[in-house]
Amino acid sequence: MSEGPAPGGATVLNGREIARAVRESIAQRVAAIRRRGGAVRLDAILAAPEDSAAALYAQSQGRACAEVGIDYRLHRLDAGATFDDLAGRVLLLNSDESVTGVMAHLPLPEGVDAYRVQRLIAPEKDVEGVNPANIGNIVYGRSSLAPCTAVAAVAMIETAGQDLRGRVCVVVGASNIVGKPIAVLLMRQDATVVSTNKFTPALPSLTRRADVLVSAAGVPGLITADMVKPGAVVVDVGTTRVTDHAGATRTVGDVAFDEVSRVAGWISPVPGGVGPVTVAMLLRNAVDAAERRGVC
Ligand code: NAD
Repeated sequence: MSEGPAPGGATVLNGREIARAVRESIAQRVAAIRRRGGAVRLDAILAAPEDSAAALYAQSQGRACAEVGIDYRLHRLDAGATFDDLAGRVLLLNSDESVTGVMAHLPLPEGVDAYRVQRLIAPEKDVEGVNPANIGNIVYGRSSLAPCTAVAAVAMIETAGQDLRGRVCVVVGASNIVGKPIAVLLMRQDATVVSTNKFTPALPSLTRRADVLVSAAGVPGLITADMVKPGAVVVDVGTTRVTDHAGATRTVGDVAFDEVSRVAGWISPVPGGVGPVTVAMLLRNAVDAAERRGVC
């Protein structure tokens, strides 16, 4: 499932390939649900301008759903929508039996607290795994819908074929939906996990001990070769849009890819790493949610 050696020697963890394999199995599951007379339906709420990154993402999500047979419905709300508007729509979708998955695209309009909206999404339809009940269940190791990016990061590590028991895993970044869930999922595999954030002193002295290093900080170039243990698995969750001197924009990760790939054993690129796997995991959560609700 990897792309072979990077120029510097590390094996590249190819997110597009991993995602393709996940999507193939999802398509088969959706087809089986349809044969039993059921359907997988994902309803997404978007309250962002037409030309925003969120709107573009929603479009590509719709295409990804269509490819595997998931019925994707986008609910466009005005960019000035209030909490009550969003809450009303979520509650409507929660109570609609034909809807098996619900999500709200971020960012929400200014002044609307994402947490308050996410906690309203019925946990069993929460395909992004952002409802506090689902976040809590990953601590308990209960079968649950987990945050897609966290699951994707762990899937990348598993692709590297690592047995995580006892291994030192350092997670850079500790947000509620990305860094913290990644740390918890690794803890569940009996790894020795160090969670770090922007206040962590002497970060390189910690990362250099990592058998597995996951960076989810959103700081381009944060992880340099001298911060990486030789042979380590390095997974880059960061995605930042940058503009170069010529005015061209591109997406970069947290890891200085070329230099780190000379030291690491495995490395995930940006783009083409965690991103595509995250989308695949969203589709997988959508199918899990439908199967658990017994729509088929
Ligand atoms: P966030 O801003 O909510 O959290 C960032 C975390 O990184 C915080 O805990 C902060 O303390 C830490 N941090 C910041 N600078 C640091 C530094 N210099 N050293 C150590 N820690 C530092 O961001 P988020 O929502 O968790 O997203 C993190 C990154 O992951 C972003 O680049 C985001 O775009 C990306 N992301 C990618 C995907 C994907 O599918 N690939 C999905 C979600 C988020």
